[in-house]
Amino acid sequence: MADIIKLLPDSIANQIAAGEVIQRPASVVKEILENAIDAGATRLHLLIREAGKTLIQLIDNGSGMSETDARMAFERHATSKIRKAEDLQFIRTMGFRGEALASMAAVARVELKTRLQDRELGTRLQIAASVVENQQPVQAPVGTSLAISNLFYNVPARRKFLKSDAVEFRNILDEFERIALAYPEIELSLHHNDQELYALPRTQLKQRIIGVFGKNISDKLLPIEENTDLVNIGGYIGTVDACRKKRGEQYLFVNRRFIRSSYLHHAVRAAYESLIREEDHPFYVLFLDIDPARIDVNVHPSKHEIKFLDERIIYQYLRVACRHALGQYSEPVLDFEQPDRGMVHTLSTSAPPPGLKATINQAHYSESAIQQDWRKIYEGIKPEQSGQALVLGSNMSQAPAAPEEGADETFSPAPEKTPYQIHQSFIISPIASGFLLIDQEAAHQRILFDQCLKKLESQKGDSQQILFPTTLQFSGSDKALLLELMPGLKALGFDLEEFGQNAFIVHGLPVDWKETESIQAFIESLLRQTLEESDRKTNHRERLARHYARYQSIRAGQRLGAEEMQHLIDRLFACEDSAWSPFGGRCYTTFDLGEIRKKLK
Ligand code: ADP
Ligand code: MG
Repeated sequence: MADIIKLLPDSIANQIAAGEVIQRPASVVKEILENAIDAGATRLHLLIREAGKTLIQLIDNGSGMSETDARMAFERHATSKIRKAEDLQFIRTMGFRGEALASMAAVARVELKTRLQDRELGTRLQIAASVVENQQPVQAPVGTSLAISNLFYNVPARRKFLKSDAVEFRNILDEFERIALAYPEIELSLHHNDQELYALPRTQLKQRIIGVFGKNISDKLLPIEENTDLVNIGGYIGTVDACRKKRGEQYLFVNRRFIRSSYLHHAVRAAYESLIREEDHPFYVLFLDIDPARIDVNVHPSKHEIKFLDERIIYQYLRVACRHALGQYSEPVLDFEQPDRGMVHTLSTSAPPPGLKATINQAHYSESAIQQDWRKIYEGIKPEQSGQALVLGSNMSQAPAAPEEGADETFSPAPEKTPYQIHQSFIISPIASGFLLIDQEAAHQRILFDQCLKKLESQKGDSQQILFPTTLQFSGSDKALLLELMPGLKALGFDLEEFGQNAFIVHGLPVDWKETESIQAFIESLLRQTLEESDRKTNHRERLARHYARYQSIRAGQRLGAEEMQHLIDRLFACEDSAWSPFGGRCYTTFDLGEIRKKLK
């Protein structure tokens, strides 16, 4: 039989290799961002079209490449970062395998423009499916611009496996955000389909975290800095208030490389033990700086996992560092010796004390217990008795008392208990043992959220027809996403219909829709939100309900009449989980007369 083994041509070998490195548009984004960082760039502009399926372009102000290097860069195993195997021990650069550019060039059209600082002219190079089509000198700014278009155009099987634009773009955002967090000193911008999504100036880590996650996080960050011989730990962890039901806001960087490690995640989680509920996840952006010789970054195709020589010790250090930060922050209220310290907290804080959830958890406090105990607050406890711990928290260490006969049916505060509004944001409602301070916005969000969930479940949201149907315009990718969200919107009472190429026509709105709100703006922000949340398949309904609640709720700063307030209070306490807003904040806090008297002595 004749010999049958043949060496594959480079173009095919590269395509096969690309399967490992370049799996989706986000992989391209990761590799080129890392290359620009390795090239010392301080400014990066990322431009994406159609979730990277048509275009991914990065413009950096890094070192640039010489004419020869520009050509070499696309050869397989061509790298400027290591020369011999031992160099891997000292690796501080993000890349080192020399595979990324070759892989991209094998499965897309690539255009490179690059210039070194000390050259007058730069180089332009065009490659498609590993074939160099054109190379010429060009005028170009110092640095590199790399455009990857029509990804997988020559590998239809792979292209077919790409997910919807929304999902692919979410993956791109993940990569972008990781780099943004790891390199606050680098200026970064991101455009998608000509829309600017991020413009992050160079700054410090804390500001960058706020730039990525929004202002809400700013007062929920606890700094960490712990230096040891083996590892330096830095960054921020979230307070218990920053905990979320969803995973995803956990960032661990080792030598500024984003990594996944369930073992080390566990270390952080362990620091929160008993502070947060089982199903909640702490927020963190943590940096470990370790001697590169004591880790192996070459064990995973996308380098998202690494091996540590001293994993156990690092685990301990990390846990202690986080515990320390949490402890410093919450010492005055976190009292582990007193499990029966209830939900009563001092008047000096209007915000819930940081350790609150800790005590709740320790006492095996269940949310439904809050609800059951609610009715008791309004039961006619005489003022003299109020020196006792507030009913709400007094029996936390025991099983919650069963509600009394009939207590379930009605919920009627005594008539003289008129609510007052202060700062047009909070409602003070007298109760037997003191008073409640209710956050009107959070409370209304809870009410709307619950209503929406019910509608989504029953699929029966009433709709009122509008007199003059309006049309809404969307981009192609937004339209695709909106179509996915349509059933939910319909269930809430939105009567929408596809209309022409990228337009929708609105025939009806939910009956309680506030007329002042723009439906286009509502849907657009819903789409943004959907893109931003990676777990969109799993909690579709909750997200929609949350969004509706946020958008339609009474706001802080809105004046309310006595009846409106009472109605709000009644509806709040008809909710199963009246204590918490759907965004994790508290809807109310209680003030106990006994405590107040003590304060005033
Ligand atoms: P690696 O990053 O593993 O070295 P790549 O295929 O990603 O491999 O890149 C190959 C080489 O091209 C790099 O080693 C670097 O010298 C050069 N290079 C890639 N991107 C840039 C850039 N944005 N600026 C300057 N040089 C670059
Ligand atoms: Mg690289």
